[in-house]
Amino acid sequence: MRIGIDLGGTKIEGLAIDRGGRERLRRRIPAPRGDYSQTLSAIAALIADIERDAGERGPIGVGIPGTISPATGLVKNANSTWLNGRPLADDLPRLLGRPVRFANDANCFALSEATDGAAAGASIVFGVILGTGTGGGVVVDGRVLTGVNAIAGEWGHNPLPAPRDDERPGPACYCGRSGCIETFLSGAGLTRDYARLRQGSGEAGFDFDAADIAKRAATGEAAAGAAMARYEDRLARALGSVINVLDPEVIVLGGGLSNIERLYANVPRLWTPYVFSDRVDTRLVRAKYGDSSGVRGAAWLWEAGDG
Ligand SMILES: [Zn+2]
Repeated sequence: MRIGIDLGGTKIEGLAIDRGGRERLRRRIPAPRGDYSQTLSAIAALIADIERDAGERGPIGVGIPGTISPATGLVKNANSTWLNGRPLADDLPRLLGRPVRFANDANCFALSEATDGAAAGASIVFGVILGTGTGGGVVVDGRVLTGVNAIAGEWGHNPLPAPRDDERPGPACYCGRSGCIETFLSGAGLTRDYARLRQGSGEAGFDFDAADIAKRAATGEAAAGAAMARYEDRLARALGSVINVLDPEVIVLGGGLSNIERLYANVPRLWTPYVFSDRVDTRLVRAKYGDSSGVRGAAWLWEAGDG
């Protein structure tokens, strides 16, 4: 048995899987927002709970927002900001009295889908989470690519490639720059664009989330159709540059916006002009495990034979 923990901003999820990846049990608790020491004890209590109910112990992998800095050993880049600068990778193993593996939550997502999900069997996999933000992770031959700065796959804070005139300098991003991929391709980015297209309609556009906009586009509403077409073109440009660098066999989409069905047919048609190749055989697919991929991937941080 292996245990995965997904440390989210609003909830902490724990999952135990058996050697074949079958789910044994799952627990979910609210995250103690803003409180680091309570976060530690909440994770420990969740693991104790899982192991008691499962009747055995297992190795533990934890998916976190951000990453553990190889230089300092401290959490960095987490949008759950109370974790930043904290020695989570020292404190949690000490509290539990055993080793723990950590990885960025998008890396866990990519690992889950590459191991037994929508990209199973592919040698190079790029996993993307399109939701509140735009996380990314890379798995090569079944292993997460971490990188010397522990930021491999972090494409969301690159500038949107091939920007049009009206995309420059682009919306301000929380990272301090403008025009980041995330400001265009997150759920909020799509909503903002749609609201802009609807200005003057007398109806506030900000009430609509990505699912609403996709639904309206499907019924033929012009502004929603234009917003979706623009979103697809931007996603094609952003993924085209990833294909040029990484040349993945499969790109897997997760997060709320991955449920928009038209992306899978339209985006691969649009990315060809941005890829330096006469043909593009990269497949764009939807995550098999949806919201559960992160916690599954955390459990997969330990290899077969580890537990
Ligand atoms: Zn940014």
